[in-house]
Formats: sequence, C-alpha cells, structure tokens
Amino acid sequence: MVIDLITLEKSPFPFAGSFAPSEIDLDIETTRLKNAVKVEGELTKRIVQTDVKGEIFAEVETECSRCLLAAELKLEIPFEAAFITAENYTEAKETELKEDDLDVSIFNGDKINVTELVREQILLNLPEQAFCRENCRGLCEKCGANRNLIDCNCEEKEVDPRWQGLRELKITK
Ligand SMILES: [Zn+2]
Ligand SMILES: [Zn+2]
Repeated sequence: MVIDLITLEKSPFPFAGSFAPSEIDLDIETTRLKNAVKVEGELTKRIVQTDVKGEIFAEVETECSRCLLAAELKLEIPFEAAFITAENYTEAKETELKEDDLDVSIFNGDKINVTELVREQILLNLPEQAFCRENCRGLCEKCGANRNLIDCNCEEKEVDPRWQGLRELKITK
C-alpha cells in the first residue's frame, strides 16, 4: 500500500488497509503473522514533513521463551511517524524543528510506503519475551521434558545433600 502525495485529494487524509501475511516479510525465522494485519490512520502533509499516525493490529505466532512451543501475541500498536526529504531533514536538523519523539524517516517526497511502515512498526514492537501461557513451566533442565505436558519428577528424584545424612540414619535404624 503506497500513498501518493502528489495526487492526494486532501490533508489530513484518512486511510485504512489490510495486508495478507505474505505481503509483510518479518524475516524472523521463529516469528510469523497468523492472519491479516490491519492498519488505520491519518496522513497529514506539513510544510517540511509529512506526518502519519494511526494504529496497527496484528496477530503474531512466535516461540515461547520458556518451552519453545508456539506462543501467540496480539499486538495493538499505536504509532506516529514523520517523513521528510533528505534536503529538508538537513535543514530541520539545523533549526531543530525535528521532534525527537517521532520516528523520522527520510523519503523522496512523493510516496509513503504504508506496507513498509507497518512492517517496521511490528518489528519495533515485538516483545523480547513471549510466553505460550501465563505460567508456562518451561523445559526441565535435567531431561528436557516440557514441564507443561509431563511431570518428569526430576526435581523430586534429586535429594538435597543436606538430607542425605538423615536418610542414611533412617536406613540403619
Ligand atoms: Zn511455554
Ligand atoms: Zn526432567
């Protein structure tokens, strides 16, 4: 989805779109889009820059940080981005017009690639950790079993060395 600023009918210009998972390449082996990504927003042409703000809705399947099985994430990403031409960027920097809290991208001045913007925002907003469930028990450090599925009892078999003496006492009684 590309918005052409030259033929834009009005500003602010509201837009909405939906992208199939195949249209947005996250390029991460363990993470994929589950279904269509939606975006709605508004584009405003200003003197030195073009502002785009809105919200992205995406469902992502990734790997649980504890047990490595699938973890699903529902992302709702509000975003604000600014696009500026290289020439204006230098100028804006000199006069400090640039707002620090915005994501500023350099562009050629006539087209905004919304698909690319959506892709970048999803990547920026992926959490570092994801869990398949709130209290995922993870993998057993000893035998590697998924402790959500199997009670491997490795922990119980392990005898605290402090009790070892007691156990021997019991046996010799
Ligand atoms: Zn898990
Ligand atoms: Zn185990």
